[in-house]
Amino acid sequence: MRDRVAIRVPAGVLAAIYYARMSLTLRFLGTSASRPTVERNVSSLAVIREGETLMFDCGEGTQRQMMRYGISFALCDIFFTHMHADHMLGLTGLLRTLALQGRTDPMNLYGPPGCEKLLRRAISLGSDKQHFEIRVIELTPEAPLKRNGYSIVAFPVEHGDRSAIGYHVLEETRLGRFNPDKARELGIPEGPLWGKIHKGEAVDLPDGRRIDPSELVGPTRPGRRIVLTGDSRPAVGTITAATGADVLIHEATFAEEEAPRAIETGHSTAREAAEVAAQAGVKRLILTHVSARYSRDTSDLEREARAIFPATIIARDGLEIDVPFDPGAES
Ligand SMILES: [Zn+2]
Ligand SMILES: [Zn+2]
Repeated sequence: MRDRVAIRVPAGVLAAIYYARMSLTLRFLGTSASRPTVERNVSSLAVIREGETLMFDCGEGTQRQMMRYGISFALCDIFFTHMHADHMLGLTGLLRTLALQGRTDPMNLYGPPGCEKLLRRAISLGSDKQHFEIRVIELTPEAPLKRNGYSIVAFPVEHGDRSAIGYHVLEETRLGRFNPDKARELGIPEGPLWGKIHKGEAVDLPDGRRIDPSELVGPTRPGRRIVLTGDSRPAVGTITAATGADVLIHEATFAEEEAPRAIETGHSTAREAAEVAAQAGVKRLILTHVSARYSRDTSDLEREARAIFPATIIARDGLEIDVPFDPGAES
């Protein structure tokens, strides 16, 4: 029989593995409304969850922003909020680059009802040959798109006469915290029995004792939730989706001085976005899609929003935000 060798894994390495496994990170690739500026590119957001990259909108020049901010080109899913040029013109160039890289994996493009025609044009523009499969999926608002461990639900927003949706990314509820010390104390052998108990099964031990999961497992823990609006007026759909969310990413194209223009163009002011966040009771609000006139100086937007909802930040290109589990629910 071979001796057992205890391998000590440094706590830092364990923490890094845990972090990669559980992380949910937002990376803003473009935060300007309508047109790029020196400081800001047009709309795109990468959501990286446990190593998987999801992209939301893909404005002109997004592929270069991906390189700049280290976003994987191996992504398989791009979600569009609506078909305005500043949210989708980057798709054509990105697909060409992926083809040059020899991609063979399919790409899924999601968008609001009616998006397929325009996306197909963007896909075929400048190239007759399709090097890998590209699927276009028109999403029905409120119908969850089930993924591994989480769902994405589109919800209706209000952006003039455009077919436009926001997205709600919500993780599944996680199992309650398992207490290994107590399990050992009770003499339950480490192994499959622990797994059964953790999943909520009562188990019978060889000595006749019956162990109820409630003895060893805490209450279930909520998953993380992020909500993003794309372009929109303050919308009931957003408030409903964002109620209690960890992060709301709301557009804030204008400051109050341009409130009438916000109404006219189907956009929101920073103050209006903050009112939505306050009504929904979100934990954090991130404002994006700012008009070129605030590109360098967002202090007016920030001040007006924070007067209503203090936990507000204004996104800038390259901003990275970690979304932790609720500390009260974390293991
Ligand atoms: Zn826009
Ligand atoms: Zn728009």
